[in-house]
Amino acid sequence: MKMSKLFVQTLREFPSDAEVISHKMLVRAGYIRKLTSGVYNYLPLMWRVLKKIENIVREEMDNAGAQELLMPFVQPKELWEESGRWEVYGKELMRLRDRHNREMCLGPTHEEIITSIARDGLKSYKQLPVNLYQIQSKFRDEVRPRFGLLRGREFIMKDAYSFDVSQEGLEKEYENMAQAYTRIFKRCGLNTKMVQSDSGAIGGSVSHEFMVITDTDAGENDVFYCDGCDYSANSNHAVSRLVDAKTAGDWTKSEIVDTPNTHSIEELCEFLNIPASLIVKTLVYIVDKKPVLALIRGDKQVEETKLLNAVGGVEIRIATPGEIEEMMELNGFEAEKGFIGPKGLNKYGEYEVTVIADETVKDLKNFVIGVNQKDKHGVGYNWDGDVQLPEIVTDIRLAEAGELCPQCGQPLKVTRGIEVGNIFQLGTKYSKPMNAVYLDQNGKTQPYVMGCYGIGISRTAAAAVEAHYDEHGIKWPLAIAPYHAVVIPVSTKDEQQMKTANDIYETLKKHGAEVVIDDRDERAGVKFKDADLIGFPYQIIVGKSIAEGNVEFKVREKDEKTAMKPEEAAEIVITAINAL
Ligand code: ATP
Ligand code: MG
Repeated sequence: MKMSKLFVQTLREFPSDAEVISHKMLVRAGYIRKLTSGVYNYLPLMWRVLKKIENIVREEMDNAGAQELLMPFVQPKELWEESGRWEVYGKELMRLRDRHNREMCLGPTHEEIITSIARDGLKSYKQLPVNLYQIQSKFRDEVRPRFGLLRGREFIMKDAYSFDVSQEGLEKEYENMAQAYTRIFKRCGLNTKMVQSDSGAIGGSVSHEFMVITDTDAGENDVFYCDGCDYSANSNHAVSRLVDAKTAGDWTKSEIVDTPNTHSIEELCEFLNIPASLIVKTLVYIVDKKPVLALIRGDKQVEETKLLNAVGGVEIRIATPGEIEEMMELNGFEAEKGFIGPKGLNKYGEYEVTVIADETVKDLKNFVIGVNQKDKHGVGYNWDGDVQLPEIVTDIRLAEAGELCPQCGQPLKVTRGIEVGNIFQLGTKYSKPMNAVYLDQNGKTQPYVMGCYGIGISRTAAAAVEAHYDEHGIKWPLAIAPYHAVVIPVSTKDEQQMKTANDIYETLKKHGAEVVIDDRDERAGVKFKDADLIGFPYQIIVGKSIAEGNVEFKVREKDEKTAMKPEEAAEIVITAINAL
């Protein structure tokens, strides 16, 4: 490919609306252009990268025994009603109507469709197990599309679904997919960690995410891990053992005391001169319109996904001051934030208040708690005598670095991660409600035991940039670079330089390399800048030293230039691509 013909417009500056490296780099280097919020054009360079990632995914999925198909992007409401998700999926599901007023949606994921395909075709245990996958654009009307390709509304995903006769079979396939994923990301030049995670809207019980570890803002997940063993988990799933803290107060009787202006835990601690671990903190949440009180030890934070799972809902948010005021009034109180407690808070609007306690509060003795009176708290309180311990006591706590690993007891560490892939054990979550069954050996109908396995193709490309760049531009791993090499004649007017450059270009092409020749009549500096920005893994620069028979060879990853014979440079590139 001639650079003069390549469809690419590099920009002098980073785009002003981009916050993270991959977004900045991919726009500036001419890979993507925004069409509308969270929706991007994949320009030719980007499309080459995406196809390479797709092909690696395809090869590894095929090798792992999965079969590719392609399902429609537009899906009918009826199937979503069968699974029960039409009601619960929430606003991320982009719903629309056709001319006959039939309701449809743009596929955010394909469990319903694949389950309907399976129940039509997989009738006997003899046909199982099967794993089917596709690579396709998905649409999710994300609340906050941001970070370019990392969190788009339209994005490319590989989604696979397995059908088995037993949990045992599913677990085997799950492991098979975990291994395929490990190979896929390694081939893409990414270091990933497989971490335990919450299974969210897709459901099921066991799930893991593949995270690219990064210390930048681009990592939207906190990943807890242990150096002492292999424990690692997304913060929405991580559990930890607590380090010692004072959990019994010195009060000898329970009473209500004045605690003026103690709106925060810190203020209350200071006023009473106690550690936060003696306080039961009460937080008011709204889960799908319903009021939920979360009780947790004062020095700990609520993990909202865990709380959501404990209640069983779709959307969760903290209540507004206005809502809290209304709730107080309705129950005959006048307290405000900082003084709220569970006792006597029973209803809100048409709903009963659900109270959930974190395990950290269960064993507290002589503690401090809000009693729904302004500027007052209960001190020396105990469960059941002074205030009722809620029926639901479970883990809704956000783990913290320094707390102890649940497996081996060493202090946990935390880092940021970008989720590039996800595997789930779904079990019969879809096959049961959708009546997707096969006949077993005894002629009895049984629901399939299913798994599902996603990889964000476009997010993986962006994550690769997050992991491989410097201040000059992208440093693509060879396997997913849009082109393997660029040949740069320093002066297009110099015949000898042009001839050598063309010879190298032809030789590389003949040996299967994907190569660009920068034939533009531009200053050398401009060509070098573009080559670095675009991120060609190898640069072969043909300049004045060709008079002595040498070219300069630059490996973008290492950022060093070496003089060598043209044939040697070509040989290095050819050897590297043959090793892919
Ligand atoms: P997230 O938690 O980041 O919103 P998810 O868990 O909802 O993602 P899955 O349903 O597991 O996503 O989808 C499988 C894969 O698709 C994810 O691992 C991720 O790589 C990719 N993906 C999901 N949402 C997006 C998005 N908005 N933009 C780009 N890629 C995405
Ligand atoms: Mg996920």
